Amino acid sequence: MSKLKLYNTLTRKKETFEPIVQGKVGMYSCGPTVYWYQHIGNLRTYIFSDLLRRVLEFNGFKVKHVINVTDVGHLTSDSDEGEDKVEEAAKREKKKAKEITKFYFHIFKEDLKKLNIELPWKWPKASEHIKEQIGLVKKLEKKGFTYRTRDGIYFDSSRFKNYWKMAKLDLKGLKAGKRVEVGDKKHKTDFALWKFSLEDGKRQQEWKSPWGVGFPGWHIECSAMSMKYLGKHFDIHTGGEDHIPVHHTNEIAQSESATGKRFVNYWLHGAFLLSKGEKISKSSGGLYTISEIEKMGYDAVVFRYLCLLTHYRKPLNFSLDNLDAAKNSFQNFRRKVIEIRNEKHKGNDLTESYTNLFLIEINDDLNLPRALRVVLKMLDDFDFSSGKKIKLLEKFDEVLGLKIKEMKEEKIIIPKEVLELAEERESLRRQKLWAKADLFRERIREKGFSIEDTNDGYKISNLD
Ligand code: AMP
Ligand code: ZN
Repeated sequence: MSKLKLYNTLTRKKETFEPIVQGKVGMYSCGPTVYWYQHIGNLRTYIFSDLLRRVLEFNGFKVKHVINVTDVGHLTSDSDEGEDKVEEAAKREKKKAKEITKFYFHIFKEDLKKLNIELPWKWPKASEHIKEQIGLVKKLEKKGFTYRTRDGIYFDSSRFKNYWKMAKLDLKGLKAGKRVEVGDKKHKTDFALWKFSLEDGKRQQEWKSPWGVGFPGWHIECSAMSMKYLGKHFDIHTGGEDHIPVHHTNEIAQSESATGKRFVNYWLHGAFLLSKGEKISKSSGGLYTISEIEKMGYDAVVFRYLCLLTHYRKPLNFSLDNLDAAKNSFQNFRRKVIEIRNEKHKGNDLTESYTNLFLIEINDDLNLPRALRVVLKMLDDFDFSSGKKIKLLEKFDEVLGLKIKEMKEEKIIIPKEVLELAEERESLRRQKLWAKADLFRERIREKGFSIEDTNDGYKISNLD
């Protein structure tokens, strides 16, 4: 059986995946900041981590998957300035911070379900792990990695010698640091571990700490919560590619400084969904939400299918034309599955050879576009017995997540008036009045149905 290889951002290489504990995997995915709807770009990143988890499971690993929920501490700027996104949203919507985070977290969960993304083992919330975050900052303080400024407790990035290992950037300009003033950071790359509440600030979410009333920095939550649930050293950490230079670089620095151990073995990052060739973040707007896509007449699974057509490390340009193309191709796929389900074709059992082909592709750093090609080839392979083929398709769907089991002939309810039109058309055809019969086909179409002639008489279907 082919071994699973994953591209590790740390080494910039595809590596054979070896878990810390045989047969088990601890995996952490940076989760949403719940101050607004997640757009389909954010959701592409969760489809990627879902595929990773499903591929691990297909390979027989037992996966403990954690997705955190950022409900405090994520500021509008990555450089520890600006307002807390949740507090800002609470002001904008004139609501309690808790109401905001509860609402958007609920929507996020609904979106995941619509996209057939498996729910994680744990969903830790930053606001419910303040004790753990303070504990970690205390450890760093004891080891001399922190300093105090006017507005918070900061991590001194110059004390961690592999700071640039992940980002592999030559950031001399940044490293040189700027003029040090009281209340400023010592180096541009230092980051907040704990921020103080402003005296006149009216923060809704703040806590007491050994350093004063305030709230945790954004990065510390992921280190504290991942280590709490998965241990100080675990297997896989994922996120969008934007997390490489700041968020994940900082997570490594603070975690490894606190424990003196390696933090994570494999770092995997999903490329962005682009809109008109541009990177779109949640705050800049420009990408749809899943509900908007649904309102335009697309099933959410069509977006999942679109994501499967591009490798997770390649940027994907989103447009409604692309989505339309994915919709058509998905409809063909579905139609074929239904046809095979109805066939009673006794061919050979090609389960083993197709399983091997499929495994080679998914185990090559989750090459889902090529794995899909194997599936499409298999659909058209007339040598393969239809019953066995369907079974294998359903097995492959444990990775694809396209709801293949639900692809069955729908029992459509045809309105009486459509049946009458069909009968009249049939009688015109018998009289060889083809042009008149075609007019009736048009009238049937206008009512949302198509009619086709088969050896057993006419067949009416729903127009997709
Ligand atoms: P946020 O809720 O802003 O913290 O983002 C949630 C996740 O979405 C993070 O892992 C980001 O890296 C990711 N992300 C943000 N924008 C995009 C995008 N346009 N395409 C793909 N992933 C994105
Ligand atoms: Zn994170």
